[in-house]
Amino acid sequence: IDIFLFCNTVLKFRSKPTEFRSKPTEFRSKPTEFRSKPTEFRSEEHRPFRSVFAAGTARRTAEMLKKREGRAEEKEEEEEMDRCSVRYKASSQQEIPDRPLSPEEWRKLRDDSSRPDRFPGRMLNLMLAAGTDVDVAKSLLAFIALDSGTVPYVLLLKYLSLCVSGGHHSEVLDTYDLMKSCFKTLDIGAYSLLLKGISRTERWREMLPMLEEIKKIVTPTRRNYGDAISGAFLNGDSETGWTLYNEMMELGLEPNQEVWQCMFNSATSLQKDKEKLLDILIYMRENQVYPQEMLVKSIKTWFQSLPGEGWTGRFSSVDSRDRCGSCQAEMESIELTEEEYSQLKQRVMANVIEGRDVFFKTTPQELQSFKNFVKKSPAFDVIVDGLNVANISVHGPKSQNLLAVVSELCDQGLTILVLGRKHMMQHSKMWNRYDILKIKQIAHCFFTDNISKDDPFLLYAALHSGNNCKFVSRDLMRDHKACLPDSATRRLFFKWQRGHQLVVPWYVPGKKVRFQRELRYDTVVQSTPTSWHLPYDEDGEDRSSYEIPQKWLCLTKQH
Ligand SMILES: [Zn+2]
Repeated sequence: IDIFLFCNTVLKFRSKPTEFRSKPTEFRSKPTEFRSKPTEFRSEEHRPFRSVFAAGTARRTAEMLKKREGRAEEKEEEEEMDRCSVRYKASSQQEIPDRPLSPEEWRKLRDDSSRPDRFPGRMLNLMLAAGTDVDVAKSLLAFIALDSGTVPYVLLLKYLSLCVSGGHHSEVLDTYDLMKSCFKTLDIGAYSLLLKGISRTERWREMLPMLEEIKKIVTPTRRNYGDAISGAFLNGDSETGWTLYNEMMELGLEPNQEVWQCMFNSATSLQKDKEKLLDILIYMRENQVYPQEMLVKSIKTWFQSLPGEGWTGRFSSVDSRDRCGSCQAEMESIELTEEEYSQLKQRVMANVIEGRDVFFKTTPQELQSFKNFVKKSPAFDVIVDGLNVANISVHGPKSQNLLAVVSELCDQGLTILVLGRKHMMQHSKMWNRYDILKIKQIAHCFFTDNISKDDPFLLYAALHSGNNCKFVSRDLMRDHKACLPDSATRRLFFKWQRGHQLVVPWYVPGKKVRFQRELRYDTVVQSTPTSWHLPYDEDGEDRSSYEIPQKWLCLTKQH
């Protein structure tokens, strides 16, 4: 980078200019080291696209699906954050100056450090992790420029990153102008940063060519799209915003909730915008997305602001009679329709039972003998995951816990299948042979090899027994849900699971076994012409992916 240009654009200090800006000419002679194209950034990202429906093991399917949903992306980002903070901790003996330093002061700091050659990069990392004042970083860059006559590309990127994360718009734009004048193309990291930084400024439109540049190399991430969409909506160009949003959805990328929030906050009340925003709610329903409290508040405000429609929003919960506590509307049933049930059964059989499910540790012989066993048995009312249920209490022999649960189900007059492992049949302190004998008298039993996993057997037997068959387990079967080929089937599976899984939340040996009440209503976004009900995540509530929110936004319209 031309040092004169550099000092005049990037290093405009927000406070007072420093003495070392006066004589830039002597550094101009040195050739720059970073004019060459940063090609090394390309190779990593450039992988051939593989459809999620491509043949392969179920594990790969699961991983691909996770990736598509952006979870892997988030994980990578989290890991990167962790690495950052580790680096920060590891080298935090190196103090970050609390004010801009002169070149002489920086030189002293650098020469005193353990690895002077790596000092600038490490110092900028520290600043990034600590969110240091941008003027301090500027003074460091100025020193580097003076000292070596050039600012390496990577350091400039770190500086840009600091400006973007600190929301320093004019610094972002200055750095952008500089980079634009020095490099024909940038790498994806730089484009992503600039996209984010520029989207919040009055020059937001300049981010659109950057998105195009990214597209030439890889598929933009949901964050890239999110930044671009938010930028367009925040700057009042909802048309561009919607175009980008549609493009993103067509790629199968789901936006972050902040993006949806920005859309609800910024959209106009025009009919065409209204329909598109309602489509977002439908998307949430179909994909079992639960809005967070921040987003749901924006949705509430948006509904209430619709002119002449008379919407009222209230926060609510569902009462013991499965009605909305606010408007008394009955919530949608969790029962699967005949069509839904047969679709689910067919997909689970094909993908989990017959598919080459790597989680399914069994032999074809064992599976066949189980299928024959189920065929010969009557339809079951309830299936008990033996090993799982035996662990409901840490006290007493496991066989006793299992017997207590099976006896309780037997008292209800149900036809029971207990799935167990062969080792349960060997008499021991934990597995009393008399308990097992009693279980065999009141229930059908199938014992698999010790290495087998029970849950595919459980799924097979349950789905074979029809829509009324329940199962007892605390296993959440997330692996199997992930193996299902599309979001509609995964949603059906989750719905079926919630409506059919009996859970014993706690148990004291000798006391009566109590099952947690089954859910009878579905926890998804639901609507009628005059109401919307949205289940949402409360702030500060750490809900696991297999749990469902307890809070609802109730929106009703005067009619
Ligand atoms: Zn309601």
